[in-house]
Amino acid sequence: MAQKYHNLIDGKWQDARSGETFESRNPANWSEVVGVFPKSSKVDVDAAVAAARAAFEKWRLVPAPARGDIMRKIGDLLVQRKEEIARLMTREMGKVLAETRGDVQEGIDTAYYAGSEGRRLFGKTVPSELPNKFAMAIRVPIGVAGIITPWNFPMAIPTWKMFPAILSGNTVVFKPASDTPAVATLLVEIMMEAGVPPGVVNIVHGGGGAVGNAIVQHPDIDLISFTGSTATGKQITRDSADTLKRVSLELGGKNAQIVMDDADLDLALDGILWGAFGTTGQRCTATSRLILHDKVYDKFMDMLVGRAKKLKLGDGLKADTEVGPLVNEGQRKTVQSYVEIGQKEGANIIAGGRIAQGGGLDGGWFHEPTIFTDVRPDMRIAKEEIFGPVLSVLRVRSLEEAVTTLNNTVYGLSSSLYTRDINKAFTAIRDIRAGITYINVPTIGAEAHMPFGGVKQTGNGHREGGWTVYDFFSEWKAVYVDYSGKLQRAQIDNY
Ligand code: NDP
Repeated sequence: MAQKYHNLIDGKWQDARSGETFESRNPANWSEVVGVFPKSSKVDVDAAVAAARAAFEKWRLVPAPARGDIMRKIGDLLVQRKEEIARLMTREMGKVLAETRGDVQEGIDTAYYAGSEGRRLFGKTVPSELPNKFAMAIRVPIGVAGIITPWNFPMAIPTWKMFPAILSGNTVVFKPASDTPAVATLLVEIMMEAGVPPGVVNIVHGGGGAVGNAIVQHPDIDLISFTGSTATGKQITRDSADTLKRVSLELGGKNAQIVMDDADLDLALDGILWGAFGTTGQRCTATSRLILHDKVYDKFMDMLVGRAKKLKLGDGLKADTEVGPLVNEGQRKTVQSYVEIGQKEGANIIAGGRIAQGGGLDGGWFHEPTIFTDVRPDMRIAKEEIFGPVLSVLRVRSLEEAVTTLNNTVYGLSSSLYTRDINKAFTAIRDIRAGITYINVPTIGAEAHMPFGGVKQTGNGHREGGWTVYDFFSEWKAVYVDYSGKLQRAQIDNY
């Protein structure tokens, strides 16, 4: 029988008040139920927010280095249980084991980074314009954070958000994606085991429309950190307006890899295969466009098609699998619909294009890695996020045309350029409009201690990762201490 999981509210594991449940299933084998979860609603969110609010009053007073000690303990426990979590993650959302191990490692890196940040959280001291007066700015916690996450990085993304939130002295109400509630629950269990006090982290399972929306609209939640689709991000912006919450949005992408005529083509080939078909294309940083220089077009396409057709699809738990399934039926339908759209727009399929069948794949949501050529920049497959193993190839004749083509999207998350020419590399770094630019690296591969996020409709200007995420999860407080013993009026007595 499938394992039964619970919400965690105020340190107590519990069912939804309604008693309703939902299942999480294995996308490589849909008949396998991974777990049964509480289908929560607003009343459960209200209870979690009340617990988080009460816990905040104590947690904000715990010294940051002591909070950091707990973060390091979380990191240690994640190291010990890395393989167990990775296997559960592969069963729950389909990525191959090497990738789910990487996903857990990102959580480990984020935990240790947060641990060390407990001894930094630097403020600033600046000279006052008046004598015998001291001026400083310090970081203070904000309150209760609503954390809403997607299914494609079920460990890394929640840790990117929850660890800096808690390290900074906030408390958390966490709603994971309905497709990956088991991994999320395991993470919260580990946080409790490491010593996070009751109420500081709460998890409420359930749908985006019910639980997610109740979090976004809740008057006692002070900030929201969200990763997911641009459509939901816009909805959250509207729904949070009445309470003027601080909101961080990490949304979609239409990332491109440029390959110039002077590039190392073997290197660029490994890059495009990993960027386009790793995680079955289900990354916000996935490479969904290849912008290829005319002079190497035919040669590179021959190399690419040969390798793409050989990619081995299958259950991510098997050692020889290179590409896992899509996360659910809806995602596969979306991919199929874009394959049809691309054909109707006049693009040509030169690899894949179909649902993958036979060879043990019929029980899951598999789709062949697919490549479109003759793609024009105005086509929908060149502009819209597909979130699947579909690559659109565009032909260009200069760096300038390549960068213009790359920038021709409403998104601006990740970007990549393969060239051996240092001048071209720096010109592209200057002109590409994206939050991340890789040179001779595919569009995927962010590291936990660097800023992560995008421009344009990829987000609303905040950054996750590294030191930058601490600006989101803490408030700057300006402090003046006058030790002159008399009233000194700024801007008046000194001029
Ligand atoms: P969504 O944006 O729908 O979901 C992301 C998270 O938000 C989930 O936890 C979801 O809950 C929740 N949610 C959904 N609706 C609301 C709402 N109205 N208020 C608050 N929370 C809500 O993404 P999907 O998972 O459905 O994926 C759809 C598309 O999103 C993909 O095809 C892709 O384009 C994009 N996406 C982008 C990601 C990224 O990394 N930038 C990651 C994942 C998806 P629930 O799971 O219960 O629906």
